Amino acid sequence: MTKLKTFAGKINSGHVYALLISLLGVALFTYSNHLEFLQYPTPRWVWIYALTGASLILTFSLVQLPPEGNELTMESAVYLACIFVFGGSTTLTVLLLNCLIFFFFDTSTSWWKHLTNFSIYSIMICLSSYTFDLFGGHPGPLINDELPAYLMTLAVYFIGNTLLIGLYYYIIYKGTLYETIKDIIKDSFVVYLCTLVLSLVLVVLIVHNSFFGLVLFLCLSTLLCYSFKRLFSMYRSIEERANTDQRTGLFNHSYFEEALEQEIQKSRASGVPLSLAMIDLDDFKKYNDHFGHLQGDKLIAFVGETLKSEAQQHGIIASRYGGEEFTLLMPAYDILQARVYIDQLRKKLNNSRFDGVEIFPLGCLAFSAGIASCTSDIHDKSQLVDQADQALYYSKRQGKNTVHTYGAYSSLEQELDFSQDVRDIEQQLNLFMYKDMETFRHSKRVFRYAMDISELLDIDALSKRHFTLGALIHDIGKLEIPWGILNKKDKLEPEEWEMVKWHVTWGKKMALTNDKFKDLAPYIELHHERYDGKGYPYGFKGEEIPRLCRMLTIIDSFDAMTTERPYQPTKSVEEAIIELRACAGSQFDPELTEFFITYIESRELRAGDAAI
Ligand code: GH3
Ligand code: MG
Ligand code: MG
Repeated sequence: MTKLKTFAGKINSGHVYALLISLLGVALFTYSNHLEFLQYPTPRWVWIYALTGASLILTFSLVQLPPEGNELTMESAVYLACIFVFGGSTTLTVLLLNCLIFFFFDTSTSWWKHLTNFSIYSIMICLSSYTFDLFGGHPGPLINDELPAYLMTLAVYFIGNTLLIGLYYYIIYKGTLYETIKDIIKDSFVVYLCTLVLSLVLVVLIVHNSFFGLVLFLCLSTLLCYSFKRLFSMYRSIEERANTDQRTGLFNHSYFEEALEQEIQKSRASGVPLSLAMIDLDDFKKYNDHFGHLQGDKLIAFVGETLKSEAQQHGIIASRYGGEEFTLLMPAYDILQARVYIDQLRKKLNNSRFDGVEIFPLGCLAFSAGIASCTSDIHDKSQLVDQADQALYYSKRQGKNTVHTYGAYSSLEQELDFSQDVRDIEQQLNLFMYKDMETFRHSKRVFRYAMDISELLDIDALSKRHFTLGALIHDIGKLEIPWGILNKKDKLEPEEWEMVKWHVTWGKKMALTNDKFKDLAPYIELHHERYDGKGYPYGFKGEEIPRLCRMLTIIDSFDAMTTERPYQPTKSVEEAIIELRACAGSQFDPELTEFFITYIESRELRAGDAAI
């Protein structure tokens, strides 16, 4: 049965629980046993010794259960059989002897853990023997008519054990009582069931074959314990193989995913930092091409061994992510500590000797690495992997054999990167200069609004970048619309309208041809969707449209309303605000509309102040 394992050093609610259980257990023992053992005849003593021996053998035959390796013992089968054959009082004497002997053997466990375990068993035995009496059971041979009494006794013993142990873990670990008890039952149900059936078998054997029956029973139950042990070690070895990458001996990709999820949760709960490093060997293809794949495999195995021995020393989870890419999951390392550690590892590999490494560009084995840390912004594990991957990509771009942390690139560099993207998009927009000057100017104005708004919205740097670039490029598909339609002064015919609508789809296709602009595609494709679902091209509704696309729709429309065009009515800012409010909830997201209006009003106020 399940036993208590640990007590924390300081007095806590677990200790108070143990004290109460001990008082109750000792009281019940004294009340039920009445010191009867002083009057037992010799044959009863012989049985008590024999049963104590049997219970001790089972106490020492631990059963380990997958998946956690929780330990259970089956000596309860002896106690239950003893209740059925000799009654509760004799069983308590057997328990007392068992616990006394175990106390002297197991000196590593504190005395009051022994006392608490003794008390828990006393309570279970007393409750079970009362139940046996209550349901009309008589100590002695197994009687078929008394089956309900046996079953109820077994049930009470089982429930008593589960509740007493479950309550302890509930008090210590503060989970929910239901969950704790469910876990105990899930883990140990089969062993409980074995114990209960074995107790009935033992009754039959003791009654019919006396001591020989007891020996037979011991053989059977120790074999059973052995089988459980074998089962557990098989489970462990299969589990190990399923989680290991055969080439390197490191953990494999799927184990990494599992561990990442668990470690992120642990880090969140405890506040202990967690870092992730992604490592990619530099120019590995060259080595493969030069020496062949088999030799390449050996080099991968060598790197794997080095990472494994390093990881084991530092409590790091090292996995082969795929190909010649590795991940190191680093609990308790903040991003700077992780960087220092991975950089040392890089130098160590640079200095390691392996056949043929002289053909690498640096004349040695090298890798690039990216590191990301688990922050409050990380909502799921793929974000952390993505950030480490971006930092790795950055390291490669810096000339390889380097380690970089996510987000630590200089802001000047980020600005330069952003400016380059803006220039690239502007170059494409320049084509509007001859085709539709108004769209060119409109795109630039919407871009400026988006820059202002992105500063006010609570969004990360990457979303900011996508949003503003998306605003700049959103009408790019209009390049495909014939000049005559784009510049038509009169009302468009229905079929011409249909063609204009296509610009969102054409624009998206144009963006997807360039890897750099893939992330901007939603802004191009969805900026004519409406909040009420009556927009195009899909008719998406409300939250189906990404939030920043809904924002772009508002900016786009506001600019269209307030821009002066020949032969077309123009709205003043005040009129445009009234119009935006009128369409909030139908065309526009109402919350974002108010957000935008607040921005416009404060901008107008500032402009007014400046004019004075
Ligand atoms: P970079 O510095 O940019 O990472 O260059 P690289 O040559 O390492 O290029 P990349 O990472 O794109 O290519 C990895 C190569 O690793 C491609 C593939 O031939 C090789 N590779 C992937 N898995 C294995 C493997 O299990 N065994 C062997 N021998 N080669 C592998
Ligand atoms: Mg690679
Ligand atoms: Mg590589």
